[in-house]
Parts: sequence; C-alpha cells; structure tokens
Amino acid sequence: MDNVNNELPPKPKSPSFDDCCGNGCTHCVFDIYEEEVKLWEKECLRIQTGKRNKLGNSKGLSLETYTYLKLSCIEELTQDTKNYTFQCDQLKLEPGKHLLLRWKDEGLTRQYTPISSDENSFKVLIKTYPKGRMSSYIKKWEINDEIEWRGPFGSFQYTPNLYPRICMIAAGTGITPMMPILYSILDNEKDETLIKLIFCCRTYKEILLKEQLDQFSSFWNFKVHYCLSCDNNAIAKYNESLIKSRLNANLIADKLGSSIHQTHFLICGSETFQEDIKACLKSLNVKDHSMFIF
Ligand SMILES: Cc1cc2nc3c(=O)[nH]c(=O)nc-3n(C[C@H](O)[C@H](O)[C@H](O)COP(=O)(O)OP(=O)(O)OC[C@H]3O[C@@H](n4cnc5c(N)ncnc54)[C@H](O)[C@@H]3O)c2cc1C
Repeated sequence: MDNVNNELPPKPKSPSFDDCCGNGCTHCVFDIYEEEVKLWEKECLRIQTGKRNKLGNSKGLSLETYTYLKLSCIEELTQDTKNYTFQCDQLKLEPGKHLLLRWKDEGLTRQYTPISSDENSFKVLIKTYPKGRMSSYIKKWEINDEIEWRGPFGSFQYTPNLYPRICMIAAGTGITPMMPILYSILDNEKDETLIKLIFCCRTYKEILLKEQLDQFSSFWNFKVHYCLSCDNNAIAKYNESLIKSRLNANLIADKLGSSIHQTHFLICGSETFQEDIKACLKSLNVKDHSMFIF
C-alpha cells in the first residue's frame, strides 16, 4: 500500500483570495478548486484500488475528467508568446469557450482559450511570464508531449445575426476568445454582423496575430483599429488604422460614431483593462446588457 500511496498525485492547492477576480465568474477559481479536489479524490481511489489507467479518453474533451492530448505543433509569435496545437479526436468547440489545463505533478490548473479548432485539433495562444507558475512548465513543452486538458467552459454563446453590430475590445492575449468568434462570423456567408475590433497592444511589434487580422480586413463586414499605448513612432505598413494612445471613452465614441447604441460589446483583457473599458462604456451610456466581459 505504501508503494501505491507514493504514486498518488499531490492534492490540488487551494487558491488564495488574491487569485479570485471578484467578478462573480460562473466558473470561479474556487469552483475549479472544488472540482479539482473531487477529481483528485476519485483518482486517488482509482490508483489505491488497483485501477491504474491514468490516461483519459483520447476521444474528445470531457467536462469531468482530464484527457491527455498530444502537442503536435509549436509556432513562435513573439519572444514570450507561442501557438500550441493539440490533437484531439471528435472535437466540437463553440467559439469563445475556454479549457482548463492541468499540470498534474503540482496539481496546478490554468484556463486557456483556443483561438481556432477543427474536428481533430485545437490551437491555443499562450503568453508566458518570467515568474508565472504554469508558464515555467509551458516553456519546457516539446512536440509529442502529452498534456492534460478538460472543458470546454464559459457562458458566452454566439448566435449568428443576433446583434447587427459587434465591437470587440481586446488587450494582449485578450484577443484569444475573439479569434474563434471572428472565424465563425466571417466563415458564414449568411452572417451579416458588422464587426469592429479595437485591439490594444503596447507597440506595433507586439500586435499578436496581426497577419491573420489584416487578412480578415478584406471582408466587407470587418474593421480593425490597433491601439498602441507605448509606440508614438509607429508607422502603418499596410495602411492599417493605428491609434497611438491609450484607449479612452472619446476614442471609442469617435470610432463607433452614432452606431454606439446599436452595438454589442465583447471585452477581454486584464482585470484592470476590463474595468477601465467598462467605465469608459458606462460614461458613454452603454448599458450593462450590451456588454459581455470574458
Ligand atoms: C477564462 C480565461 C481564459 C484565459 N485564456 C488565456 C489564453 O488563451 N492565453 C493566455 O496566454 N492566457 C490566458 N489566460 C491567463 C492564464 O490562465 C494564466 O493566468 C496565465 O497563463 C498566467 O499563468 P501563470 O501560472 O504562468 O502565472 P501566475 O503564477 O498565475 O502569475 C505569476 C506572475 O505572472 C505575471 N502574470 C500572470 N498573468 C498575467 C497577466 N495576464 N498579465 C500580466 N502579468 C501576468 C504576474 O507578474 C504574476 O504575478 C486566461 C485566463 C482566464 C481566466
């Protein structure tokens, strides 16, 4: 029994109150922790009772159990940001949903939002941080590594043509939930939603997925403005729309004009970014029900 106990995975660590954003998320870090403890108890029991098959079901993702998925491709976007593609059979991901990644050796979990997917794979864009705990593992990933994922989660649901106009306001990796929504709208000829993306980045060089976003600009119903907070000298190479300033209420009003009150807003970025943008929109009399914060 001692040998078996040595094989047991570590108990998940409880999040601290600082880990909670306090926004009343439907799937909060404390909900995730409770689920993780239940999964951990189940897994310990399975190992202790001799059922040692630790591999999850390789067909599709599951909400309840982790599935080991093979990492098949790594593409470098910037020094600290890469796209990672995972193989997964029978996959059906709705746009804007996120997945939970677990690093079992530590019982550590973090959320990531696929930027694209098909029936056999999904791609996540991940920025790593020098002191980030999950980042330290992600930086060591290699092709063919098997990584644990579960999901999808999230309350966002996209219905074609529900809103005549959508304005996406994203900062940095906050672009991730916007990408599958954009693919879904622009790939559907019958979806006539007009989309404006205001993408906030520090510098021109740091604009993530720019090539893809510039390609989207050839669609009649998509327009992107790159809002650069720390790059006064940036020069548009392809006639892109650059805003060389931090985003504020006046700029949002200017870019949306009189359509602002017929627009539905999707917002994603750091907590402070989300709070700032919400305050800007409120000052422009945009109602809460016209905003979705990821
Ligand atoms: C619903 C949801 C979806 C997400 N989707 C994605 C995604 O698709 N791609 C992605 O890259 N991330 C995404 N994130 C963020 C991700 O879950 C992790 O928080 C992030 O990867 C950092 O984890 P870590 O363990 O490496 O850092 P932690 O150990 O949690 O943090 C350590 C330090 O890293 C730095 N740090 C961590 N996060 C940030 C940040 N956002 N901005 C600035 N500094 C930071 C800070 O200095 C912090 O003190 C998402 C988060 C949520 C809630």
